[in-house]
Amino acid sequence: MTDPAESPCQTCGACCAYDKNWPRFSLEAEEDLALIPEALVALDKSGMRCEGNRCAALGGEIGVATACTIYGLRPDVCRACQPGDAECNIARAHYGFPQIRQ
Ligand code: SF4
Ligand code: SF4
Repeated sequence: MTDPAESPCQTCGACCAYDKNWPRFSLEAEEDLALIPEALVALDKSGMRCEGNRCAALGGEIGVATACTIYGLRPDVCRACQPGDAECNIARAHYGFPQIRQ
């Protein structure tokens, strides 16, 4: 999820609740990962904790109003996902949301 004030992400959240294997950690610095509340991290520390396919850090209601509650600390994979890219539109299609064209 990207945020910026006018972003379509604010009324979406699909990519944050599409695949429990998606919000994984990769090349983040240990000290950055240590700032993420432990309750939001998977037990095996491989990524974010998910409830079903929904990331535990996602706040709000999908398709209505959503926000990442750890936006400034979110993993690299979340920073990389941009509205209109392939991952975004796959997740949006899963929820029946219209595709975003870049
Ligand atoms: S699926 Fe796309 S529009 Fe929706 S929150 Fe993720 S990046 Fe934003
Ligand atoms: S950490 Fe934030 S941006 Fe990443 S999947 Fe979870 S709610 Fe979405």
